[in-house]
Amino acid sequence: MCYAIPGKIEAFDNKLVVVDYFGEKRKAYNELDGLSIGDYIYAQGGYAIAKIPEDEAKSILAVWKETFFDLQEVDLKLSRLNLNQESVSKEFLRILDNAAEGRELSREDLRVLIKEKNKPALELLFKTANFLRQKHHKNSCCVHGIIEISNYCRCACAYCGIAEGNKQITRYRMSQKEILEAARQAIEEHGFKTLLLQSGEDSGYRIEELAEIVRQIKANWPALIFISFGEVGLDNLKLLYAAGARGLLLRFETSNPKLYKQVTAGKDLSSRIAHLKEAYALGYMIVTGSLIGLPQQSEEDILNDILLAKELHAEMYSFGPFISHPQTPFANNPSASAEIILKVIALTRIIDPAHAKILVTTALETINPDARREALLAGANSVMLNVTPVKYRPFYSIYPSRAHEKESIEVQIKDTIGLLMSLGRSPADLSV
Ligand code: SF4
Repeated sequence: MCYAIPGKIEAFDNKLVVVDYFGEKRKAYNELDGLSIGDYIYAQGGYAIAKIPEDEAKSILAVWKETFFDLQEVDLKLSRLNLNQESVSKEFLRILDNAAEGRELSREDLRVLIKEKNKPALELLFKTANFLRQKHHKNSCCVHGIIEISNYCRCACAYCGIAEGNKQITRYRMSQKEILEAARQAIEEHGFKTLLLQSGEDSGYRIEELAEIVRQIKANWPALIFISFGEVGLDNLKLLYAAGARGLLLRFETSNPKLYKQVTAGKDLSSRIAHLKEAYALGYMIVTGSLIGLPQQSEEDILNDILLAKELHAEMYSFGPFISHPQTPFANNPSASAEIILKVIALTRIIDPAHAKILVTTALETINPDARREALLAGANSVMLNVTPVKYRPFYSIYPSRAHEKESIEVQIKDTIGLLMSLGRSPADLSV
């Protein structure tokens, strides 16, 4: 859990520090020098990322103390579960009851859940997932920032608007100076504690340049850095980790090897899976998942996607809808519905209740503007705000008309915090 309110160090436990947040104890890896018991720190994604002066910590905590317990109470009310519903089949209720009690569901049970179409039953599925989210994660919600540093990509994924074959889009590649300034603004001015740097597989940057950018951000501003530059290879993963990157976002897009080959113009799924395993072995926190609604993808494939993400030790799950892009080979295929994504989020929470951070993707919000709220009430507990300079955002068009494309970061933060507070959630990665 990653409260980005200051916590007080209570104890050391080998490489971990035990941190107190208003009586709740959390553990975080410590890579900072010179910490002592009684110091105040920001912890993020399980890492201590910065020590902060006691005065500053106490004044922030004074503001939080008023709302901290009120928010928890609102969340608790919204996540209460009542499984007595006459309009829902006994079989469906039995499965949800087992899920709520923390019993592992069989494959057949999961099939029943994913196939369900009845609205009252789906409402209960989402409520069960929300109940589990609250039970295990309380009311924290991660709020990360993403900088899309380049839309060049050498790959030819058939669903993707920035794939190499699309000659109709304007390409951009941010300079080191521009990336550092965007990071500075996000961290220093807007209070983000975790930043994701993302691009297509862009050979226009040398890996040393990317590592230097990570190093510079870490040296200048306290933040947890995630990277998403595609399959960069083991040596480069090592280099980026040594520079300070601690998280890797890499979706496997589908767990079906045949379908993967079709949608990625002949690539091999095993290479991507190996990359994710190598990254995990190096110590990266893994953010992974798939694209839901791909042509010829079955419900069995989708269940396998969730199980594969879990097997790959996903720290955060990212399942986005396929959205048809007019300048791709998949232009004529229908986009996924918001409902199937909500089901996948709820099933993910049920399959990995205690561990999963589950992202509400921008793509989901693009197909349904109310989806962030709905997903947060269906098991999700993480959002990402786009802190890319506004002038570049329209060109990162992996799918068309992306939500929040034209919104300033101030508006995104205000709306996000407003939504989270209305749901009783602590916007855990922002200092407000
Ligand atoms: S999905 Fe990723 S790897 Fe594939 S074309 Fe798009 S940016 Fe490139």
